[in-house]
Amino acid sequence: MFVLANENTRVPIKIWLPDEKSIDESCLRQAYNLSKLPFLHQWVSLMPDTHAGMGMPIGGVIAAEEVIIPNAVGVDIGCGMAFTGTNIPVAAIRDIQTGSGNLIQAIVGDILRNVPVGFHHHKHQQPCNTLERAFDEFDKYENNAELLGQLEAGFYQVGTLGGGNHFIELQEDEAGFLGIMIHSGSRNFGKQVCDAFHSIARELNKKWQSTVPDEYRLAFLPTDSPEGCQYINWMQLALDFAEENRLRMMLAVKAILEKWIGKYIGLNIEYLVEINCHHNYASLEHHYDKDVWVHRKGATRAEKGELAVIPGAMGSYSYVVEGLGNSMSFHSSSHGAGRRYSRKSAMANFTTEEVMTDLQKQGVILGKHKKYDVAEESRFAYKNIDEVMENQSDLVKPVKRLKTIGVVKG
Ligand code: 5GP
Ligand code: MN
Ligand code: MN
Repeated sequence: MFVLANENTRVPIKIWLPDEKSIDESCLRQAYNLSKLPFLHQWVSLMPDTHAGMGMPIGGVIAAEEVIIPNAVGVDIGCGMAFTGTNIPVAAIRDIQTGSGNLIQAIVGDILRNVPVGFHHHKHQQPCNTLERAFDEFDKYENNAELLGQLEAGFYQVGTLGGGNHFIELQEDEAGFLGIMIHSGSRNFGKQVCDAFHSIARELNKKWQSTVPDEYRLAFLPTDSPEGCQYINWMQLALDFAEENRLRMMLAVKAILEKWIGKYIGLNIEYLVEINCHHNYASLEHHYDKDVWVHRKGATRAEKGELAVIPGAMGSYSYVVEGLGNSMSFHSSSHGAGRRYSRKSAMANFTTEEVMTDLQKQGVILGKHKKYDVAEESRFAYKNIDEVMENQSDLVKPVKRLKTIGVVKG
C-alpha cells in the first residue's frame, strides 16, 4: 500500500498497489476528484483491482458523512458473488460420459438452457420474496412514480444472469471438490434505480450550487433529505433483489447438479460453505469514531473472520477469502482481479480463436450462445489474480483457491 497526498488531493488516497506507476491515468484522475469531495471521512481507499469506472473508480471505497452518492454505489446496485462448496469430487464427474458429452459438459449445457443469460429475462413471472415484500411496504416506494413499474418488471428478471462478465462457474478447489460460483447483480431493476436517482441528485446539486463539479459525475444526496431517504430505500430493495437473484440461480444450479449427479453417480450431495456478498453498495457503518456511509464500488466487505468471494477470470483462479478487518480500507478488499484492458482494447488485442483455444487446452467447458465478443472476457484482459491477492495480504487471507472447469456467460 502507498499513500498519495499532494496538491491534487484534499484527503489522502491510500492505494493497495506497489507504486504510482501501477495505476493508470484515468483512474488516478477519478481518484483525485473523489479526494476533493467535501464530505469524506479520513481518506479514499483504492483496492488492488482498481481501474476507471463511471465517476468513481471500480475498486474504490469511501466513507461519507451524511450523504449518499448513487454513482459511488454503481449502476449495478448489489452486483456481487455467491459461492457454494460441495462434496462432489471433480475427478468422478469428468470421466463420466453422457448423451451430451461428459458430465461437466452436460451440466454446463443444462444451466445455459435453464438460466436466462444476456439480455434475456424469464418469459413468466417468477416467485420473488423481495418484490412481494416491497408491495407490502408500498408507502416506502410510492413517491417515485416513474420507478414503480420496475417492481412489476423485476418478477421477470429475478433468477437471470445478465451479460458481460456476469457468470456461473463450476470450479475445482485444491482438494479436488466441486464449487459453484455466481457473479450477478440487480439486473435492469438496479440500473433504473441508479439512473433515476443520479439524475435527481444532479438536478438538486445544480439547484443548491453544489461545490462538486457536475463533470465529476458524483452528484450526492444528503441522507436526511426526502430524496436521500428514498434512494436509500430503493437501493436497499435493489440490494435484496440482487442477493435473491443470485440465490435463485444458485437453487437452479443445485437442482441441475442433483439431477445429473443422481442419474450417473448416486452420491448424496452435501453443500458445505455458502456465501452471498455484494460488491457494489453503501452501508451505514462505524469507522474511526463516526457513523459514516461506506460506499464500496467494486469492493468487498472484509470484516474480521467473515468469508467473502474474490473472482479472477474465466479459465483462471478465484478465491474464497477470510477478512482481516483492516480499518485502513474501512474493512474492505478487492472484488476481483480487475480489468487490465477495457472491453474495447481486449477485443482489439485478443481474438475469439485465441481465447477458445486457451480454454480448450485447459479443459475448460464454455457455455455461451454468441462467441463473437468472447475476447472481452479473455483471462488476459484481467490483472493476474495472484498478484492482486499479494497486494492485499493485509486485507484478506485466502481460504480456498478455485480453478474454473466450466463457465456460463451471457
Ligand atoms: P465486475 O464486478 O467489476 O464486473 O467484475 C468483477 C470481477 O470478476 C472482475 O474484476 C474479474 O476479476 C472477475 N471475472 C470476470 N469474469 C469472470 C469469469 O468468467 N470467471 C471468473 N472466475 N471471474 C471473472
Ligand atoms: Mn454487475
Ligand atoms: Mn460485479
